[in-house]
Amino acid sequence: MKNNKTASKGLFLWLSVFSLISLMAVVTALWYFISPRLHEFHYTLPLVFLSGLRIFFLILVIGTILVLFTSVFEKNFLIAKFAVKLFIQIVYPISLLFGKIFRIPKSRIGESFIKVNDSLIRALKPKYKPSEVLILLPHCLQNTSCPIRITVEPKNCKRCGNCDIGAILEVAEEYNVDVAVATGGTLARRIVLEKRPKLIIAVACYRDLVSGIQDAFPIKTFGILNIRPQGPCINTKVEVEKIRNSLKQIVIKNK
Ligand code: SF4
Repeated sequence: MKNNKTASKGLFLWLSVFSLISLMAVVTALWYFISPRLHEFHYTLPLVFLSGLRIFFLILVIGTILVLFTSVFEKNFLIAKFAVKLFIQIVYPISLLFGKIFRIPKSRIGESFIKVNDSLIRALKPKYKPSEVLILLPHCLQNTSCPIRITVEPKNCKRCGNCDIGAILEVAEEYNVDVAVATGGTLARRIVLEKRPKLIIAVACYRDLVSGIQDAFPIKTFGILNIRPQGPCINTKVEVEKIRNSLKQIVIKNK
């Protein structure tokens, strides 16, 4: 059995702070070297360029501080969506770059990023009707010996207990929430476009979860890592209780 111990959210938070400081140092050094050239074009250009950089850095720093506070205290410090957007689309790729320099495995950074993302959602304390929530599952959760087609209609599952699909369907029924099974990223994107949920509970490996969270934004996506006792993409499993806990937190149950 593989070791399923995942990285803590602290890894990504520290890496993002370090990445940001390093990025600012590198860009400032670049400006220092190119400013004489800019001056040759027009004497105001270095100042204009520097002012643009300062505004960009200010937005990045404020965004990062808001995200850090929100993630650590799980209280809503996110006064604007832009903070999360910046964090997901700019800080994460930069963190990956620095992670590579320090030889931190991409998987650990990805897992940590997923935890930070989850804590940001929890901090917002979202509440949705069952019809606004979607549980999105990877096809590899289905037992390979099962002949039933569940990608088109998950309810075809006979709940035989040979994989976790049946138990997930039971939890979904309890909360009256829709379930979809995707065979890959393209299908997952299509399902999201068709069903237009406001919140997704996605189960997948770290790679698919990270890209899913980025693609689906601004739709909130809770990421739950699958367990891979037989390696990736085959007979994977999931802690169904994690799905139940997420549903408990976000779904307004019909009385
Ligand atoms: S639980 Fe459902 S999907 Fe899984 S093996 Fe049984 S019938 Fe197939």
